Amino acid sequence: MKLLEDRIRQDGTVLPGNVLKVDNFLNHQVDPQLMDQLGAEFARRFADAGITKILTVESSGIAPAVMTGLHLNVPVIFARKHKSLTLTDHLYTAKVYSYTKQVNNDISIDRRFLSPEDRVLIIDDFLANGQAVQGLLDIAKTAQIEVAGVGVVIEKRFQKGHKMVTDAGIQLEALASIAAFEDNTVTFAED
Ligand code: 5GP
Repeated sequence: MKLLEDRIRQDGTVLPGNVLKVDNFLNHQVDPQLMDQLGAEFARRFADAGITKILTVESSGIAPAVMTGLHLNVPVIFARKHKSLTLTDHLYTAKVYSYTKQVNNDISIDRRFLSPEDRVLIIDDFLANGQAVQGLLDIAKTAQIEVAGVGVVIEKRFQKGHKMVTDAGIQLEALASIAAFEDNTVTFAED
């Protein structure tokens, strides 16, 4: 999506450890008009997928997920992060290793919000090694719900997550695909 690539070129900063800082429009300060356009684009790409709900993880997945939910007219559920969980009877839980914070979190979704008839779309801000998406896939499996697709605002194609999702046969839509970081600049994938 050219609009997003232009914004990344303009406002993104490459940090050590293959981290792209985009906190001035995506995951700290949020540009609502851009989010609206990203949500509309995800909705267009998944229009025929029969989505009933959107799943994401707090906090940086929430903005794009909510805008996608608005355009698809479906509810949005964000998994909550906890350091470690004890009372879990009413929750679906999974373990997620955070790429940027390098800590393990339990993520959880209240069982009331998912039912076997649901067909969900997973949305997140970044796809790196795929841990966050894998955690949501684990929850979907436990809840016996179908995952119709995964939508990420930015994927780093050179890390493990892209292959993990596509190898699982799941439709993956990335609105910007980064092929490499070279000399602190971003190179986008051609397709
Ligand atoms: P994964 O679980 O796929 O390894 O990493 C995805 C999560 O880590 C995203 O939810 C995002 O919050 C964070 N993340 C991964 N890579 C980056 C990055 O390059 N920049 C930023 N800002 N966050 C990232």
